[in-house]
Amino acid sequence: MPREFRQRYLRLLPAVDRILLEKSLAGIEEEVPRALIVEAVKEVLAEKRSVISRAAAEKELELLDVSSPALAGEALERIKEKMEYNLRPVFNATGVLLHTNLGRAPLAAAAVEAVKGVGASFSNLEISLHSGKRSSRYEHVEELLCRLTGAEAALVVNNNAAAVFLALNSLAAGKEVIVSRGELVEIGGSFRLPEVMASSGASLVEVGTTNKTYTGDYKKAIGEKTALLLKVHTSNFKVLGFASAVSASALVRLGKDYGLPVMEDVGSGVLVDLSRYGLPYEPRVQDSVAAGVDVITFSGDKLLGGPQAGLIIGRKKYIDRIKSNQLMRALRVDKLTVTALEATLRLYLDEKKALREIPVLRMLTVPGEVLQRRAEALAAELRKKLAGEWEIDILHEKSRVGGGSLPLVSLPSSQISLGLKGVNAGELAQRLRKAKPPVIARVKRQRVLLDLRSLREEDDKELLETIVRTFSSSGMGKNGGGS
Ligand SMILES: *Cc1c(COP(=O)(O)O)cnc(C)c1O
Repeated sequence: MPREFRQRYLRLLPAVDRILLEKSLAGIEEEVPRALIVEAVKEVLAEKRSVISRAAAEKELELLDVSSPALAGEALERIKEKMEYNLRPVFNATGVLLHTNLGRAPLAAAAVEAVKGVGASFSNLEISLHSGKRSSRYEHVEELLCRLTGAEAALVVNNNAAAVFLALNSLAAGKEVIVSRGELVEIGGSFRLPEVMASSGASLVEVGTTNKTYTGDYKKAIGEKTALLLKVHTSNFKVLGFASAVSASALVRLGKDYGLPVMEDVGSGVLVDLSRYGLPYEPRVQDSVAAGVDVITFSGDKLLGGPQAGLIIGRKKYIDRIKSNQLMRALRVDKLTVTALEATLRLYLDEKKALREIPVLRMLTVPGEVLQRRAEALAAELRKKLAGEWEIDILHEKSRVGGGSLPLVSLPSSQISLGLKGVNAGELAQRLRKAKPPVIARVKRQRVLLDLRSLREEDDKELLETIVRTFSSSGMGKNGGGS
């Protein structure tokens, strides 16, 4: 039964048109569609009506400001939210360099510039500027890929899963592919090699055991229906201890004996020798080419540090067969991918430049001391600028590469550990996620951890300002209390 005071408050609510006249809203009509402004105002009014109707006592409504300027102000906040892009840049403070949920590799500045140019314009995507005739979009990167890897031919598709699928479909549909049991991997929950193989039309012949496979195991399995010997880089785990796998070169020798092509899915696709930068040696794409592997597939957005793409390189006769597959059209990359990939690959022509300018490589190779120095500088500023009962420390936990790459590598890193008395760490992390720009952090033992390994040095200042602004505006940085 409606009480008198509720009716009174409901009558106080201004009309939609009245609120729309407020300066704060009238001023944005140029940039914001009117329908969106009206919608926001109606939402605010509906919310107030609901608060009023639910109030049990008049006291609960004492602080309710239903003046037209106040409601316009609230509507404006909603409008700002609605106008924001859903997909936007975030700070990756997780310490995981290649985080599939965070979009894997950030692009190098040169790649972004190139995408801006080609994206906003017409381009010579499939026309030869030399002859004026039709050409292929893959030509823009094929020569570069061959030069960098030593392969005879190259091709690009949507991602590495597509690359594996297309290669198997082109070279082994209706036939058998021999693969070691220890290499039947699942990556990121959605890419299971046996399932990709099954949908490609090739049938899988598993050989060996989980921990040991010998050349003889492949040999015994070779028969009339065999089309391909496959090797898969177990990029997200390693079998340690009593284990042995057949090397690419041994498989190539066997393939030669039987006239069978050998394919290797190397997964991450490293082009530089990481052991020169203090990391464990990780086989490079060039090593597979040099070993004589006929078809090699890898991702563009893992350790290569480029856009999402699946790269297929190898012997011309096999790459040509893959290129002529009708499914190629369904898996083809768009011009923005080709552009970003070309710009990224060009950086590799000078290895020093690649290390300096490709964000993933830089983050991977930055010395632990540098991260420690940055963490200390940031922590000192936070201690100064966040008032209240904050606990701000520095930890030195290891960070991981992620994205199914270099599973055993843990990188020395530094983390800023944040805690606020009386506030749940999960809530602090949520505030950071809702910051502008969002900060994605880890929560561990009731602390929010900001790992420097996956943050770019040039972003440190903006990160600091974002954290301070976020906690201050929520009242958390001021009095040490909750929201
Ligand atoms: C990551 C990975 C894939 C899948 O690559 P996407 O580019 O994510 O499609 C396939 N094989 C291996 C060995 C991988 O590491």
